[in-house]
Amino acid sequence: LTQLFRPLDLLGVVYRTVRQGLIDMAAMFELIDTPAEVEDAPGAPALIVRRPSVAFENVVFGYELDRTILHGLSFEVPAGAQVAIVGPSGAGKSTIARLLFRFYDPWSGRVTIDGQDIARVTQASLRAAIGIVPQDSVLFNDTIGYNIGYGRDRATREEIVAAARDAAIWSFIDRLPDGLETEVGERGLKLSGGEKQRVAIARTLVKDPPILLLDEATSALDSRTEQDILATLHRVSANRTSISIAHRLSTIADADEILVMDQGRLAERGSHAALLRADGLYAEMWRRQQAARSRDALSSG
Ligand code: ATP
Repeated sequence: LTQLFRPLDLLGVVYRTVRQGLIDMAAMFELIDTPAEVEDAPGAPALIVRRPSVAFENVVFGYELDRTILHGLSFEVPAGAQVAIVGPSGAGKSTIARLLFRFYDPWSGRVTIDGQDIARVTQASLRAAIGIVPQDSVLFNDTIGYNIGYGRDRATREEIVAAARDAAIWSFIDRLPDGLETEVGERGLKLSGGEKQRVAIARTLVKDPPILLLDEATSALDSRTEQDILATLHRVSANRTSISIAHRLSTIADADEILVMDQGRLAERGSHAALLRADGLYAEMWRRQQAARSRDALSSG
């Protein structure tokens, strides 16, 4: 998933004067040489999100005609729910994210937000409704204020400060001699992985989307920073619909529902406790990760 979203940051430099919708769109085409696969239907209306529910309805999809990746996938994420998607490598987790962004259209079935087929609304309105917190954000060579505010056209200083506070990066920024005007990136201040992540969260908060798509946000961080960031993500996910793509199960144990993907199918779904009781794929993945953790703890201790 990181691979998918990283161009957002890289292309941002090129497109910095272009409006947000276009930046996001460019990001979706992964790299510039990938042609756009989808277009707005003529006269497509904007997506109107009153209750940000998300549903996949019998979605069949593959990247190549001779290989089906999602085999009739159905699930729904109620408005306001925190849902996690887990599963072995190649199960189709990132593919779900790409379809939700309408990077591709399903072969059959549909993806809806608040009951509207996302293939029938404008892509700009679709992408405005979804905020991404990627795994490792690359910042623009610009001020820290610009890096936070670019989530929305004409963000005010107040909005930027409020978002920085919510993302728990404001006290850090406020201590810098140049504050929000501090240059970051290649030629400026180098931020740690955790600080960059917080800037990415603040950027998403400025955008204020009803739906959050979180790539498991923590792989590059030490475990204390990881816990802090997770707590922040938790807080900012409240009152929004959030979908987390997770590799480490310990980070999503308290999701409202966990969808367990296996080979393009929904293998299991339920709460952490229910999935452990069911003693299936999830329980097996959990046991394996717990065992790996204790091994790590032993070898480092
Ligand atoms: P991981 O946990 O390793 O990130 P994932 O569950 O996110 O895996 P996907 O990236 O959704 O898995 O991939 C699902 C399947 O689709 C894989 O078999 C992969 O090889 C295939 N796939 C992914 N992207 C493409 C692509 N652009 N072209 C062709 N096949 C692809």
